[in-house]
Amino acid sequence: MYPESFKSKAVKMYESGTSLREIADQIGSSPASISRWLKGRGVLPTSGRKKSKVKFWEKINKNTNKLSPYAAGQCWEWEAAKTPAGYGRLWNGERYEYAHRHSWKIHNKGAIPDGLFIMHKCDNPSCVRPSHLAIGTPSENSLDSVKKGRWRYAKKD
Ligand SMILES: [Zn+2]
Repeated sequence: MYPESFKSKAVKMYESGTSLREIADQIGSSPASISRWLKGRGVLPTSGRKKSKVKFWEKINKNTNKLSPYAAGQCWEWEAAKTPAGYGRLWNGERYEYAHRHSWKIHNKGAIPDGLFIMHKCDNPSCVRPSHLAIGTPSENSLDSVKKGRWRYAKKD
């Protein structure tokens, strides 16, 4: 642990234009630690992950009055870009991603295992309400769609 005086010194150096690397070298620490101290004191902006979380929830309408027979509470709809099928779409900093998948990852604090789908219990493609989302396999996903009648025409064959 470094004493507070070291951290204050780091802040002063950063504010006078010294780079993280130079501060680290002078104090005898690593640029990553310096970056953490500065973030902790609000001198440096916090990580992109946190920022994208704030932006993400700003693009959602929680007052849709849309109720589904399949999930409790009203849908929270993504109001920014959507695919032609109605799924919310966003740029996650690396690539385009479905908004409901992004929502699931934020809420569950983890990645979606390979090969698994995020399904809408409410059957509303633009909904990102975590309690309306469920993780499942591709076959569970299509069974779920059949159950909700989305494929009623295909079923007649
Ligand atoms: Zn919903």
